[in-house]
Amino acid sequence: MRKKQIFFLGILAIAILFLLVSLASERQKEKKMEELARYLDEEEVAFAIANGIFLEDIQEYLEYEKFNIYYFRSYKRLKEDYRLSALGAINLFHNPDFFAFYKDPKPALFLETPLVLVNKCHYLEMDYVPKDLVLIDHYELPHYDRSGDEIYLKREAMENLKRMFEEAKAEKLSLVVYSGYRSYKKQEYLYYEVYNQDDSLSARPGFSEHQTGYAVDLSTASAGLTHYFENTDEFKWLLENAHRFGFILRFPKGKEWATGYAYEPWHFRYVGRHAEAMKLQGWTLEEYILANFEL
Ligand SMILES: [Zn+2]
Repeated sequence: MRKKQIFFLGILAIAILFLLVSLASERQKEKKMEELARYLDEEEVAFAIANGIFLEDIQEYLEYEKFNIYYFRSYKRLKEDYRLSALGAINLFHNPDFFAFYKDPKPALFLETPLVLVNKCHYLEMDYVPKDLVLIDHYELPHYDRSGDEIYLKREAMENLKRMFEEAKAEKLSLVVYSGYRSYKKQEYLYYEVYNQDDSLSARPGFSEHQTGYAVDLSTASAGLTHYFENTDEFKWLLENAHRFGFILRFPKGKEWATGYAYEPWHFRYVGRHAEAMKLQGWTLEEYILANFEL
């Protein structure tokens, strides 16, 4: 064969190969579009393809009602920045003030359940008093006694607190309850009269989760409500065990951005069966709710 013929045969082979490859990739693209079309309309599919978004990217988002393909890049960014679940990212995108303290507060979520969310973004009404409050005096729990300032908690929280104290006592640890339910009026007095409207020291009235009856301040008799409590064996035991009784440390270190509060070793919150998962994931109540419930 002459050199020229070999050259043309070579060119032909390359052209055929190129054609086959582009046919295959065209087929691949069609397949990707078909996959997306099962969940998205025509316009959305075109948008996804144009932006290099495929089914495998959005799969974990698809089951949620608020998912919108046009916001996918924002969801993805929030998911990475806040280390959220897909649902968490969707929730945060559509509730941008979820961590914006006192900016545009919403009514409390999950009222009258152990998951109730009251914080600097979710409030309780002035006349809200939880159902089922019980007085600590009937439970033989060591507590700080101030006349006219009796300690109440929701029954379920009190009963589990009692179980927790009994086990702690068996370990030769002695905890004391300092405070539980606090009324709107009491919080109002604290915020305006005691803490001079200092948001870094006190919740505003309606915004304290002590008003839910699920929050409790615990310490030892000698440490009181100070940071010394964190050096006690009692505190270390609580960190390891409180979740078994449905309690979480509510304002942990390094989570101010989520809770709105500086670290408080004494403030515990009853969340019931959800405590286990929060402890396992290292999540605050805010992060847990964002990650697990459509808001
Ligand atoms: Zn407290």
